[in-house]
Amino acid sequence: MGNGEKTSLASAIDGNRLWRRHMELARIGATARGGVNRQALSPEDGKARAMLLGWAAARGFVGSVDPIGNLFIRRPGRDAAAAPVVTGSHLDTQPTGGKFDGIYGVLAGLEALEAMSDLGLRTRLPIDLVVWTNEEGSRFPPTTMGSAVFAGALPLDRTLATRDAAGVSVDDALAATLAAAPVEGRRPLGFPIAAYIEAHIEQGPILEATGKMIGAVTVIQGLRWFSIEILGQAAHAGTTPRRRRRDAFSAAVAMVAALERLTADETDTVRFTVGRVEVAPNSPNTVPSRAFFTVDLRHPDAATLARLGDQIEAVCRANARGCEFTVAETIRSEPAAFSPAIVSAVTATARRLGLSHMEIVSGATHDAKFMTGRCPSGMIFIPCREGVSHSEEEDARPEHMTAGARVLAEVLAELSNSAE
Ligand SMILES: [Zn+2]
Repeated sequence: MGNGEKTSLASAIDGNRLWRRHMELARIGATARGGVNRQALSPEDGKARAMLLGWAAARGFVGSVDPIGNLFIRRPGRDAAAAPVVTGSHLDTQPTGGKFDGIYGVLAGLEALEAMSDLGLRTRLPIDLVVWTNEEGSRFPPTTMGSAVFAGALPLDRTLATRDAAGVSVDDALAATLAAAPVEGRRPLGFPIAAYIEAHIEQGPILEATGKMIGAVTVIQGLRWFSIEILGQAAHAGTTPRRRRRDAFSAAVAMVAALERLTADETDTVRFTVGRVEVAPNSPNTVPSRAFFTVDLRHPDAATLARLGDQIEAVCRANARGCEFTVAETIRSEPAAFSPAIVSAVTATARRLGLSHMEIVSGATHDAKFMTGRCPSGMIFIPCREGVSHSEEEDARPEHMTAGARVLAEVLAELSNSAE
C-alpha cells in the first residue's frame, strides 16, 4: 500500500457517523443520569447486538456466533479461506456504566470497515469485527468471559451453567439474546486468527494528563489478589492491658502499613489496594478477635509482581503481634505483553497521521489479553475525561474517537494485507 492510499483511508473515517452511532447505542439501557445499564445477555444486550447487525447488514457484512455467543461480523478479503484479522471489544456495560467503555472498540472497528468499503478498498485477509460476550462480568462472573472461553481459559460447559443473582443461567440468557439478534453463521471456539487489535478508552488519566491522543498499549499489567485472615482473642477493652492482648485488628493495621512500605516505588508503578476490611466482633469496647483484609496487587512486570506478592506472607508474619493468620491467594493473572510489531505499527501510524501519541500500560484487563497467546495482538487507547470509567459520568471527545478510529483503520489495513 502506498502512502497516498493510507492517507485516504484515514481521511475516509467519518467522525460524525462514529459519534452518532455511540449516541444511538447509548439509548439502549440509558439511565436517568446519562449513563448506560446494559448488562451482559440482558434484553438490552440483545437490542444492541441487533442494532449493530443492522448497520453491518446495510454494508453487506455478515454475522456469525460461536458457542459462548461471541459475535463475529465479517468484511471479506480476497483470500476467503485465510484466517481473519480481528478487531472489536464489547457492548455490555456495568450497571451504572457509560457510553464508551467497550462500545468504542466495536464502533471504531465498524467505522474502519465502513471506511474501507466507502473507498472500495480490498484487503487480502478477511477482517472480523468481534463483540465479545460479557466482558464486564457484573451480572455473570467472571469478567472477560467470552474471550476467555474462546481462548480455552474457561471451560464452556461450566460457564454456560453459571447463574446470575436471579438464578438465570448463561445458557438461557444467551439463547434469549441470540433470539433477539439472530445470525445464521456458526463459528467454533478458538478458530485461527491472523492478528488482533482492540481500540478502547484508556479508563485512566494518563493520556489526558500528558495531552496525548493515542496510546500504543505495550502490556496489560498482571494482578494478584490475596485474602488475609487474622485470629486474635476477644477481650474487655477496659480491663485488658495492651501488652496482654492479641488484637487482630491492631495486627491488620500493622500488616497493611508494612505492605504499603513494601510496595511503595519511586515511579508509582505498583498498584496496591486494600479494598475490603472486616473486623469482629465489631464492638467499640471489645478487643477484636478477628480481622480480615484483601490485597489487590498489580504490576506490568511479571518478575516484580512475583517478587512483591511472594513477600506478603513474610511481611504479615513480622507484624502478626501474637495473632495467628492465613494468607490465601485467590486470583493470579500474569501480565500480558502485546506484540512489539503491532505496538510499533500503532506508533508509526499515529506519527504519520500527525497525532500525538505515547506507549502506555493498560491498568485494567481487556479481552485482548486472551489473544496475546494466540496471535500478534495489540490495543489502541484514546483519552477519556479525567480517566473516569465504569461510571455514568464516563466521557470521551469526538476528535479523540475519530483519531483512534483513523489509526485503527490504517493498522487493520496493514495487518490484513501483510499478516500471514
Ligand atoms: Zn471495556
